[in-house]
Amino acid sequence: MYDLIVIGAGPGGYVCAIRAAQLGLKVACVEGRETLGGTCLNVGCIPSKALLHASHMAHEMHENFAKMGLMNAHADIDWDRMQAYKAETVGTNTKGIEFLFKKNKIDWLKGWASIPAAGKVQVGDQVHETKNIVIASGSAATSLKGVEVDNDAGIVVDSTGVLALKKIPQTMVVIGAGVIGLELGSVYSRLGTKVTVVEYLDAITPGMDGEVQKQFQRILSKQGLKFILGAAVSGVESAENGATVTYTPKKGGDAQTLDAEVVLVATGRRPYHDGLGLDALGVKLTDRGQIAIDNHFATSVPGVYAIGDAVPGPMLAHKAEDEGMAVAEILAGKHGHVNYDAIPGVIYTTPEVAAVGLTEEGAKATGRKVKIGKFPLMGNARAKAMLQAEGFVKLIADADTDRILGCHIIGPGAGEMIHEVCVAMEFGAAAQDLALTCHAHPTVSEAVREAALACGDGAIHV
Ligand SMILES: Cc1cc2nc3c(=O)[nH]c(=O)nc-3n(C[C@H](O)[C@H](O)[C@H](O)COP(=O)(O)OP(=O)(O)OC[C@H]3O[C@@H](n4cnc5c(N)ncnc54)[C@H](O)[C@@H]3O)c2cc1C
Repeated sequence: MYDLIVIGAGPGGYVCAIRAAQLGLKVACVEGRETLGGTCLNVGCIPSKALLHASHMAHEMHENFAKMGLMNAHADIDWDRMQAYKAETVGTNTKGIEFLFKKNKIDWLKGWASIPAAGKVQVGDQVHETKNIVIASGSAATSLKGVEVDNDAGIVVDSTGVLALKKIPQTMVVIGAGVIGLELGSVYSRLGTKVTVVEYLDAITPGMDGEVQKQFQRILSKQGLKFILGAAVSGVESAENGATVTYTPKKGGDAQTLDAEVVLVATGRRPYHDGLGLDALGVKLTDRGQIAIDNHFATSVPGVYAIGDAVPGPMLAHKAEDEGMAVAEILAGKHGHVNYDAIPGVIYTTPEVAAVGLTEEGAKATGRKVKIGKFPLMGNARAKAMLQAEGFVKLIADADTDRILGCHIIGPGAGEMIHEVCVAMEFGAAAQDLALTCHAHPTVSEAVREAALACGDGAIHV
């Protein structure tokens, strides 16, 4: 009899299993894939970041080396080697989780799980007894109605297929200007592919701060990505050497077509809980198909909990991890908790884009008086030395209390810089707290302090 069986070994599930084992529970984790780590390590965060890193290097070489006096740099791209580097990066990380499972004495039950009843998890022919179950079954890519994805054919692909194309295509259409579409579109654009992004909405990166959306689009356009916004894709016709995307401008007009060697469908992900038997078990879903939970991650069936991409909230690895830790702590009799107001989101393009908390639009919509402290990276010595001064830091604070409500950064290392604001928000800090904190010079992080100063008596270097 286990204390806990976790279903799914993605960032939510494996972190939950490790924390529960550390707290003294007898734990098993079921995973149907060949390797641990879930979407994130196998076909998500990690392989995409390997390709983003390699293509960023190529971009730096082409765009900036000569400006710095590094002449005649030229990279022949060996796609097979780049794929091997990506696979090795994935492999070392998934093996790392295997090691952590052994170290923490977690049983890996290999196969696909179903839940015949509360307290029972079936894997193959075997039924395992457990006091509690945590479902961490993640998410799957969605497609558009009538658009058929075939990752093996490599022409109309989703995020999994595009990470493993057989060659770098000359042309690519990305349907959907969200984080995944823009990251993976950027990878290929930097490697020489002509990339056109088609988006239904009138702005890229839906849900992000409006100023960030505009500046980010300008920067990506300068890098060569083409954008067609406000366009409803009605079909994708696949042929032997490519596909034709048909779209209609939302503001009216005739249907248009775009031909490309590869079409990436990046229109979103859906919670995945197929085959678990949730319906028969009586686990309630939300109207968006997510597993409904209370604020202790409990589903409608006693002893069955759920976390990560399968439940409501941002589909992010670190959100899943935090929920994994919190539910393990609750099951061990402690007080697990996730602060959903301070979960960062990062887009790992060049430059990076990072955000935490409310957007300017969102903050104003709460009816509060807000103040905005904005600092352009043109005033930051380090960003200028790195030839990456096109971005800014924007800090949003409550005008009455000075409490930090959100922060939005476009710039080199934005994904690292955002964390000082996360910590500040976690402690309920005011903008002045950041403004009074000494920041090392010359760092891009000084721009965060300058944005905080701009919420008070004014930034210095602008
Ligand atoms: C291309 C791409 C890039 C991404 N980049 C980032 C990023 O940079 N940062 C970020 O925060 N997030 C990123 N994400 C999102 C991130 O991958 C997910 O938010 C995260 O993986 C969710 O974790 P999870 O544990 O909920 O589920 P998953 O990682 O999806 O893991 C669920 C696991 O459960 C297993 N499973 C499902 N059902 C069963 C069953 N019945 N029996 C046994 N096993 C089962 C699945 O095989 C899977 O391995 C990216 C996603 C994609 C697709």
